[in-house]
Amino acid sequence: MNDESHDIPASMLCEYFVGHLDQESSQTVDAHLASCAGCRELLRIMSLLSGAPVEEVSPPTGGHPTMEEMVCYYRDKGSLDPQAVRRLDAHLRDCPDCQSEITYLDELESELRRAAQ
Ligand SMILES: [Zn+2]
Ligand SMILES: [Zn+2]
Repeated sequence: MNDESHDIPASMLCEYFVGHLDQESSQTVDAHLASCAGCRELLRIMSLLSGAPVEEVSPPTGGHPTMEEMVCYYRDKGSLDPQAVRRLDAHLRDCPDCQSEITYLDELESELRRAAQ
């Protein structure tokens, strides 16, 4: 991941997401989002985390679960079918990359909760 283009800190994106940014800052974020797929993806993850309905959980194409699956797993295991939960349990045991995704979701959620206050 190339972080150099990410001049918008995650905390600012969180405030943008919960609508706590002043107009000028939100315009800066808007402009950045227009050209940054990474931050658009981050916003999508935030809305999933805050309870936006997951349209469909598509089966994973590569070896790793999709972000939708990870968020469902993190948010509410009951929203996944038991087979998928078992697959994710097993995968997460062995995959440090996906373990750190879950940690990341956790941090992002605390950040969102802080921003919403
Ligand atoms: Zn960005
Ligand atoms: Zn993985």
